[in-house]
Amino acid sequence: MTPGDVVDVAIVGAGPAGTTLAAALARRGVDVLVLERSPAWHWRAGGVFASPAAVAALRRAGSSEATVRAVTQPIPAMRLETPAGTTVRLTYGADAGRPMAVGFDRSALDPALERLAIESGASIERGSTVHAVRLGRSSGSGTRHLLDLGLPPGPRIGEVLKQVYEKQLDGEITSVEEGLEEAKRILTE
Ligand SMILES: Cc1cc2nc3c(=O)[nH]c(=O)nc-3n(C[C@H](O)[C@H](O)[C@H](O)COP(=O)(O)OP(=O)(O)OC[C@H]3O[C@@H](n4cnc5c(N)ncnc54)[C@H](O)[C@@H]3O)c2cc1C
Repeated sequence: MTPGDVVDVAIVGAGPAGTTLAAALARRGVDVLVLERSPAWHWRAGGVFASPAAVAALRRAGSSEATVRAVTQPIPAMRLETPAGTTVRLTYGADAGRPMAVGFDRSALDPALERLAIESGASIERGSTVHAVRLGRSSGSGTRHLLDLGLPPGPRIGEVLKQVYEKQLDGEITSVEEGLEEAKRILTE
């Protein structure tokens, strides 16, 4: 990206959040660019133990079953122990036949999500550190996408998205679909 370039959405960081969002937006036809400061993927901590909800989110993001199998290792339980010796066995209900927690192989997960974003139509530019973002005036396409999602553009949309975000933090909303439904509900109140 060079100064003066304009995209609908610029995402900073090609971690799982950035690439998953990029894939979802690109599938809806949004012109999206992910800027990642690392020139190449490198290992980082994280994903050693993740709940079944993370696996469900990976499927919702568009990952194939083959990809899910390739990037996860099922883990039946994790034993937590406090310094005082109290222990908890965390299973997410796997004992009762519910889906198991997993360990993610980040060296497989992150590149798989990058591929998903690119195959969905997003661009990823590595080796670009973002220092500042200049928000341009709407070219009109952002408005079109809001309308496509059934959300009327206008000054209320910021307030609606804030309310949706707060419900997400409270755990009341756990998926993009639920967020959209909630936004539509608030707007029609
Ligand atoms: C020690 C540790 C243990 C963890 N264990 C677990 C676990 O067991 N289970 C679990 O589910 N999660 C775990 N996590 C959390 C998990 O790693 C994070 O939730 C996950 O990586 C967050 O993904 P993300 O895409 O938001 O951010 P990240 O994966 O951190 O990606 C952010 C990206 O943004 C890039 N970036 C940042 N600033 C800029 C900039 N200015 N310009 C361009 N690029 C930029 C970075 O280079 C990076 O690639 C752990 C985290 C740590 C630190």
